[in-house]
Amino acid sequence: MSPGRSRGQTSDRRRGLPTGATPDRPDPVPHLWEWLGEPLAADFANTTKRRASVEVELLLRGEDLEAWTRHERGRAPEVRAEAAGARLEEVRAFRADVRAALHALVDGEPVPRAAAEALNARVRAVPLVTELRAGGATELCALGVPDPLDELFARVAHSAIELVRTSSLLGFCDAPSCGQFFARERANKRWCSEACGTRARVARHAGHRRA
Ligand SMILES: [Zn+2]
Repeated sequence: MSPGRSRGQTSDRRRGLPTGATPDRPDPVPHLWEWLGEPLAADFANTTKRRASVEVELLLRGEDLEAWTRHERGRAPEVRAEAAGARLEEVRAFRADVRAALHALVDGEPVPRAAAEALNARVRAVPLVTELRAGGATELCALGVPDPLDELFARVAHSAIELVRTSSLLGFCDAPSCGQFFARERANKRWCSEACGTRARVARHAGHRRA
């Protein structure tokens, strides 16, 4: 995790500079990438965004995935726009498998077979090993010189499998204008932030009044 990540500080996530941006390197699309710093698989799953109750695609072009991988520097290889653009449908299909696995984890259900097979295929394609650095830090390294997009798929799949293996406290914030996976600090945390909890209660109240 690089300095400045706000993992766990969910209430701070929507304030200030987006993660990865610095004053001398402003983010060209800050509103798109406010959701960063969760486990890598969750960040990848969060590349769609809800506006009210409509799911909006954030990976419209190869440039979008390139920008996202730059924000994930240190955890993911940079994927060039051209390479990403040529395989965007594959990226979105893989993301659907990742989301299916994460939703199952959140709901305490078994991971669907198709999603599990998709994740396994990706980790088998680019083997990753944990190496020890002087001083005791560890680093997840890809063997060989893989294609950056294939390495990204493998790292995201590895992250998703680790979340399932360790029964991580992952949450899914079902509030309007959110719909994002987040790392929960406690099992009964339902919304990613107070703002989302408030918005969800207001929406529910409005729904009851209309009914
Ligand atoms: Zn939320």
